[in-house]
Amino acid sequence: MSDLLHAFVLPQLGVRGAAVRLEAGYREVLSHQPYGAFVGRWLGEALAAASLLVTGIKFNGRLSLQLQGGEALHLLYVECTSDGDLRGIARTAEADFDWSRGFAAAASGAVLAITLEPYLKSERYQGIVALSGDSLAETLEGYFEQSEQLPTRLLLAGDGERACGLLLQRLPSEGGTHNQIDPDAWNRVLHLLNTVQPDELLTTPSAELIHRLFHDQQRLEADPVPLHVRCRCTREKVADVLRRIGQDEAAAAAEQLGHAEIVCEFCGKTYQFDAIEIAQLFRPEPPVEAPDRPQ
Ligand SMILES: [Zn+2]
Repeated sequence: MSDLLHAFVLPQLGVRGAAVRLEAGYREVLSHQPYGAFVGRWLGEALAAASLLVTGIKFNGRLSLQLQGGEALHLLYVECTSDGDLRGIARTAEADFDWSRGFAAAASGAVLAITLEPYLKSERYQGIVALSGDSLAETLEGYFEQSEQLPTRLLLAGDGERACGLLLQRLPSEGGTHNQIDPDAWNRVLHLLNTVQPDELLTTPSAELIHRLFHDQQRLEADPVPLHVRCRCTREKVADVLRRIGQDEAAAAAEQLGHAEIVCEFCGKTYQFDAIEIAQLFRPEPPVEAPDRPQ
């Protein structure tokens, strides 16, 4: 089983961490659209990042990362739930763009929104951050620095076959527990992290990587969480999309092809609606009868 998320705590160093490795799920996401190599790589990094960040939320719900408005990378959207359901998508400019100019050039002008949505509450929390450095990892590090004031380091890599990541975050000081922690501990953790090369991140199983870095530290490890690509699209949601498109356009498509067809961008599933179903979608709701007033 390859698609696993490992979370751990290094209590003596006052640090929490997570490592993720996606293979089948990453390849499945890439199979839904014809992504180029660079965009496929960044989509892998984003999927790894969302999985890692979900280990920091303290409720059942969903975490999404949405990078929007880039010059060539118009949209990079990924989400991961606390149950390990993942999905992701990228949209790019039609025009020719030299993707080898790198992430910062492709995503120039974009902002990144990080959204947390608990299942049980209607409110959600959203943080917005501008791009920094030349990677999604640096942008996310900047976000944690500014908004949460939690020193955080992220390594992310994707190569079209595997998407992997490693997150290390200083734990907030609670009840003065940091007093017992060596003040140089975080620097030592960063030093260890800097020894990991992108190739090593992609080729080393997560448990082995954690062991290599922290074998001489006390570690509290949670059971690894399996990750699955699972879409939330339903026929009802697609029907809403058709309603927004409008009856004329939907009916015209049905007349030409025999049915209107909508393909989910996330998972590639095709939904078809024939002319009769379309007519039903646009049938006005029957008026709700007012309840009888008590005499
Ligand atoms: Zn779908």
